[in-house]
Amino acid sequence: MYSNAACPICDGSLNPDANTIVGELLECMDCGGELVVNSLAPLAIEEAPAAEEDWGE
Ligand SMILES: [Zn+2]
Repeated sequence: MYSNAACPICDGSLNPDANTIVGELLECMDCGGELVVNSLAPLAIEEAPAAEEDWGE
C-alpha cells in the first residue's frame, strides 16, 4: 500500500493502487491530466511527457 500522492498539476490527491508500477500512466481524477509513475520508493508521480510521436518519414 502506497501513501497517497499529490497530482503535480492540480495538487489533487491520487491513490495509486498496489499494482502500480514504475512507468505506469495514471489519470488524475481531478484535472484529467496524464501522469506517469517515476518511482515507487519514494513514490514519485510526474506529469506525463507529451507522447513523442514519430511524425513521419
Ligand atoms: Zn490533477
